[in-house]
Amino acid sequence: MAITSRVDLSQSQIDALSALVSGRVSVNESVLDSHGRDESAFPPVRPSAVVMAHSTEEVSKVLAYCNAEKIPVVAFGVGSSLEGHVLPLFGGISLDISEMDKILQISPDDLTVRVQAGVKRMALNKKLSSDGLFFSVDPGADATIGGMTSTGASGTTTVRYGSMRENVLKLTAVLADGTVMEVGRETRKLSAGYDLTRLIVGSEGTLAVVTEITLRVFGIPEKMAAAVCRFKSLEDGVQAAIAIVRSGVAIARCEFLDAQSIKNVNAHDGISLQEAPTLLFEFHGSPRGVEEDAQVVQEITSEFGGTDFEWTAEEGERRKLWQARHNAYWAGIAAHPGKRGISTDAAVPLSKLADAVAVSEKILSASGFPFSILGHVADGNFHTFIITDPKNPNELEEIRKITHEMTSAIIAMGGTCTGEHGIGAGKIDSLLEEAGSASVDIMKLIKKALDPNGILNPGKIFH
Ligand SMILES: Cc1cc2nc3c(=O)[nH]c(=O)nc-3n(C[C@H](O)[C@H](O)[C@H](O)COP(=O)(O)OP(=O)(O)OC[C@H]3O[C@@H](n4cnc5c(N)ncnc54)[C@H](O)[C@@H]3O)c2cc1C
Repeated sequence: MAITSRVDLSQSQIDALSALVSGRVSVNESVLDSHGRDESAFPPVRPSAVVMAHSTEEVSKVLAYCNAEKIPVVAFGVGSSLEGHVLPLFGGISLDISEMDKILQISPDDLTVRVQAGVKRMALNKKLSSDGLFFSVDPGADATIGGMTSTGASGTTTVRYGSMRENVLKLTAVLADGTVMEVGRETRKLSAGYDLTRLIVGSEGTLAVVTEITLRVFGIPEKMAAAVCRFKSLEDGVQAAIAIVRSGVAIARCEFLDAQSIKNVNAHDGISLQEAPTLLFEFHGSPRGVEEDAQVVQEITSEFGGTDFEWTAEEGERRKLWQARHNAYWAGIAAHPGKRGISTDAAVPLSKLADAVAVSEKILSASGFPFSILGHVADGNFHTFIITDPKNPNELEEIRKITHEMTSAIIAMGGTCTGEHGIGAGKIDSLLEEAGSASVDIMKLIKKALDPNGILNPGKIFH
């Protein structure tokens, strides 16, 4: 039975939950507010209460109780998702996992690490570095590993090291009725039965609450170098990126920023990159290897009119360049004080990338809204970043129509409405258009089997 209207908790329900988590339940207004919004432009919705969990056992007890009482439960990491994922659209509780932040076991010999779901990406990398290791998935935001698992996150290094789908080996997940399930193994290969690990990865808190994860990690490369190259047009830059991927040269990152994005980061970071369509690269390997890779990339970019190719193996310079890329989202917002950004997340087969970017640019140019384009072009994944005035809901509606038009064009090219951000509340119609009703009906059957009362993150992925 699906939940169809808002659920507000009674005092006796709050007391019962409080007893399960040693009093860590809050109805404080600012706590409710901070759990009622994410980084999307969706209007905020408060949960009825926020519950802080500290263990798998507590999560299990809370879910068993909420299932019996038919209370909606939205798992919460740090709320950096971009499609209204964490909004408690039907009230109930926000189940905050962020204090489950222990790194449980680092196994350098196996190149794995086991963590609680609330561990944040940057803290994990800081700890791993003392063993000469790093966790590769890098969405820019300092997200939790549980949140990244649940959105199937990826980022700038996916072209070399894969996304969460490739890097989660095993996890502990709690089902809606409180059943604790362990799926996957700490092995590099696995062929045992249905792949429940990848069913949970990307399920956006609608099938289970993840409490522990074993991740693949990598040795920190001996040398890292960065390079930057400018192009006359958006299309030349994109074509160069496609040719680089096809050449098989070992790039660790390859990101595209249009002239507007560069202008924004220049102003935000106080730097002075040339304001032109730009490709940023990173190379990982031996000192000689990174130099050779950079040379091959320079040759390919020059075939597409790339100019002013600069590369650096100096650590401070490399970090500064990539920090500027990671700040592009905030720089876009800072360039328009008081406004919010809406990010699209199309991914297409590589052969369609130049067309997809061109179509998106054409639609946005005609719309009159300020925008910029950037993305993980080596994965065929790019974002358009559209600026809107949150005080004008009509604008939001208009932008939704425009993004829908772009998404339909992407789907018609064989692409997807989301390469990494997920469906949340924002792309429900696009999922149906992309996957078709037969596939979405199967998703609904799986949801019903695992969460028959529909308490887990209702109103997300599908209606
Ligand atoms: C500036 C910026 C840049 C970004 N760039 C990228 C990018 O390049 N690539 C990318 O993939 N994303 C990107 N994102 C989006 C975001 O960082 C990711 O979606 C991230 O994975 C969300 O993690 P979180 O901890 O914030 O999760 P939250 O936002 O708290 O939650 C996300 C979803 O996961 C569920 N969830 C959270 N924890 C759990 C759990 N333990 N068990 C079950 N479900 C859970 C929630 O219910 C929700 O549906 C970006 C965001 C920002 C603000």
